[in-house]
This record gives sequence, C-alpha cells and structure tokens, in this order.
Amino acid sequence: MRASVLRDGRMVYRDDVADPVPGPGQVLVAVRSCGICGSDLHFAAHGSQVLKMTAEAAGAAGAMDVDLSRDIFMGHEFSAEILEAGPDTDTHPAGTMVTSLPILLSAKGFDPMVYSNSTLGGYAERILLSAPLLLPIPNGLDPRHAALTEPMSVGLHAVNKSNIERGETALVIGCGPIGIAIIAALRLRGVESIVAADFSPKRRELATAMGAHQVLDPAQGSPFDSVKARVVFEAVGVPGIIDDVLRRARWGTRLVVAGVCMQPDEVHPFFAIAKEINVQFVLAQTPEEFAESLRALAEGEIDVAPMITGEVGLDGVGAAFDDLADPERHCKILVTP
Ligand SMILES: [Zn+2]
Repeated sequence: MRASVLRDGRMVYRDDVADPVPGPGQVLVAVRSCGICGSDLHFAAHGSQVLKMTAEAAGAAGAMDVDLSRDIFMGHEFSAEILEAGPDTDTHPAGTMVTSLPILLSAKGFDPMVYSNSTLGGYAERILLSAPLLLPIPNGLDPRHAALTEPMSVGLHAVNKSNIERGETALVIGCGPIGIAIIAALRLRGVESIVAADFSPKRRELATAMGAHQVLDPAQGSPFDSVKARVVFEAVGVPGIIDDVLRRARWGTRLVVAGVCMQPDEVHPFFAIAKEINVQFVLAQTPEEFAESLRALAEGEIDVAPMITGEVGLDGVGAAFDDLADPERHCKILVTP
C-alpha cells in the first residue's frame, strides 16, 4: 500500500509498504485525513536531538526506540474509516468513521503513534488503531475537520491547565497552530477578553477568525504595554521569550508555556519572584479533553475550516513539509491518502 515515510530527514513517497494486520483488540482502518503537525516538521529536521532529549527527560525506560537510519512512520492527527476488526475484537461496524488518541495498544503494551519504525501513523493508506480508544465521529462531521481533534485538544489542555475564568484577560503570544488551538479553546470556555499577538498579518487574521477579540502586531510595540492580561499563553517556543514575559508581565500573572523550545534558554528568576508569577508547562491532552474537542467540533462550537490552508496526497507530503515553513501561506495542511 501507499505511505509517506521519513527517510534521511525528508518525507518520501512509497507504494510498497506492507499492509498492517490487526491483532486482538486492534482495528484496521482506512485513513481519511491526517493533519501535518509542527512536531513532525521538527522531528524531520532535528530527529536525533528530539530522541536524545526525550531519553534524558524520561530516563532509559521512557526512551523511544527509533532508528533514524531506517524509514520512520509519522502522522498523529487523523480521522479514518473502519475496515475490519482483529480476532476476538468487539468494535463499531465496518464503515464507521472514527478518530482516536494516537496510541496503539497491543499484547506487548502500547506504542505512541508519533515517530516509529514499525507502528504506522496517519501518513498511510491503512493503519491499525486500538478498539478501546476509538471515538465514532458524530453528526456527520467532515472527516477533514475531525482529523484536527488532536491539535485542538492540545489547546484545550493548555487552557484547562491555566484555570482561567471567564472574566480574566488572556494574552496568546504566537498564532501558529498551537496558539490558534488555544484561542479556540478560550472561546469555548467563554473567556470574554482574548488578545492574540503575532508578527504575521495572515496569522493575526486567522486568530480573529478563530475567536480572538483583539490582535496585536509585536513589531508595533510589546503587547504588555497595552494589555493587562491575567493569563499569558506562550505558543512560540524560541529562546528568550519566557524571560521576556517574566520581565514584562504584571504581578500575579499565570504563564502557560505551550511553545516547544528545544534549545537551552536563559531566565531571570528574579522577575518571576518579584511578581509571584506562576509558570505552568503543558504537553498534549487527556483522553477527556480529546473527547471534548471532538464533541465541540461536531456541535459546531469550534469551526476549524479557516485553519485548513492546504490539502495534499501521500506523494505531496514532502513538498507540504517545505511549504509549512511560510507562516503567510499556511496553518494546517491535511494529507488525504
Ligand atoms: Zn501534533
């Protein structure tokens, strides 16, 4: 079957990948749509660094067993149609449209469907999913929109971790896919003042479309000069930005760090001490947040249509990875096998 795989830092089209065979508790599905995530781009460019730092953070037991010299399967934001269940597996009927947390359960344990030499991800025609984790896509929701359940739930997780209340002002720094997901989740939670900052006019436009009440261009001055935010979401992930927030934020700010910075970074603890700033780092989502995001998409409470800026086939994934570098052109590109 067809798939797009990471080989020597580039996404390569293959038409000779072996079809997966579902084991007990697993389900064979046909991928309908898979979003390209910034973390996939990052892994393609800096895979060895990601693996090394994951091992350092998690200890040897949590290290990911990935061989960068072999083909790697990726794609963790997907929707799919059920084809057939594995042996002794009770699940929804064939033809049901589903999504799932990107985790494959097996008799040996579980594999994250993030970067793997063996477990297929969503950049493939057919993949395996875990029957207990399947969520049917309700209300006839467009499978392309359902594929964005995973990235939208990342935003919901960041917002939940902030414990923001409706009357508090939120400032979202960076309006790439993570910042946009945070804005949509703030809107879902009924937050009445959402301010978003990004250098890119296109991204500011998208932030407005997804629910920001006010957008700011940091080139025109620091957002902290004009906004009295209680909760700040950092969704950029470059060195220096956390320290800048600590320096400029008001007393008692809660800072949620959702941007993924892989370099060492310098902060002045004194800024945070002097203003009793609470810093919360966040990652991924809970299963409940994943399910709530799917529900919000299906009920029309979040509309992800403005985020989708491109669609490619499995043979177009390599070019799409290159195109995503330009914030003026793209937010989310979907792969349709
Ligand atoms: Zn992702």
